[in-house]
Amino acid sequence: MIPAAFEYERAGSVDEAVALLGRDEDAKLLAGGHSLIPTMRLRFSRPSLLVDIGRLDDLRYVRENRDRIAIGALTRHAELIRDPMLREHCALIGEAAALIGDPQVRHRGTIGGSVAHGDPASDLGTILLTLDAELVARGPRGERTIPAAAFFSGPFENALEHQEVLTEIRVPKAAGTYLKYVRRAHDWATVGVAAARVDGRVQVGLTSMGPTPLRARSVEDALADGASPADAAAHAADDTMPPTDATASSEYRAHLAQVLVRRALERL
Ligand SMILES: Cc1cc2nc3c(=O)[nH]c(=O)nc-3n(C[C@H](O)[C@H](O)[C@H](O)COP(=O)(O)OP(=O)(O)OC[C@H]3O[C@@H](n4cnc5c(N)ncnc54)[C@H](O)[C@@H]3O)c2cc1C
Repeated sequence: MIPAAFEYERAGSVDEAVALLGRDEDAKLLAGGHSLIPTMRLRFSRPSLLVDIGRLDDLRYVRENRDRIAIGALTRHAELIRDPMLREHCALIGEAAALIGDPQVRHRGTIGGSVAHGDPASDLGTILLTLDAELVARGPRGERTIPAAAFFSGPFENALEHQEVLTEIRVPKAAGTYLKYVRRAHDWATVGVAAARVDGRVQVGLTSMGPTPLRARSVEDALADGASPADAAAHAADDTMPPTDATASSEYRAHLAQVLVRRALERL
């Protein structure tokens, strides 16, 4: 389908994007366009104004920031995959990015767009939640930092205010892994599982097990109490709300989560 009519402006800076968003309450940012344009074509989304930030190359970077790694919000999935610093210090980000969609999606889609879109089946949100990442947003009142645990507020909803632009994502250096079960090549996760060692504690996150990315807190607590990976993984579906849809039943997802969590923990 063809999207509803909209105006288009290309922002030359983050501050200009913030100002342009202020022009209209139905304005929306456009980054890689790989989530927004499909939803506009289906008319699920009808922004009156698109503020294109896709060419703000100063938001495309991966750099060391003391004990953390800072990732610009416009860094594309393909760049996350080949970045040497991420490979060395936080390999699960590139591992998860490599499992996103197909090469076209990975070369246009951005980490900021992915987490701002907030699809519960998306992979990078789970990684950021598992790592206790921080998300930096700039708006008319300046900059603020949002912990990942407070960012994802519902399906396709997040803590950003209308005029705020996500500019940077900060993650700790951490060993970890991401496993994703798909029915077909290039598919979205039927279930995805992230496991990482953060500050000496094993943290576990789940994709497609509820309305937002989720932490498997019961698994984490069991591990902290000395449970084996297999025993801890039995708690993978505790406090989750896995959906039933055309891909899988809720029960099947709960079972998959247990299997994948065990495998992920054994890999750590
Ligand atoms: C065929 C296909 C398969 C896919 N498969 C997967 C998959 O397996 N796993 C997966 O995780 N994803 C998948 N995706 C989604 C893909 O990763 C998208 O590119 C990504 O979710 C959105 O990034 P984007 O840069 O394209 O954002 P856009 O589509 O440009 O924007 C998405 C939303 O985020 C907002 N936004 C964008 N940037 C910012 C910012 N800096 N600050 C604030 N708000 C912002 C926009 O206003 C919009 O609401 C797939 C997409 C397609 C088309």
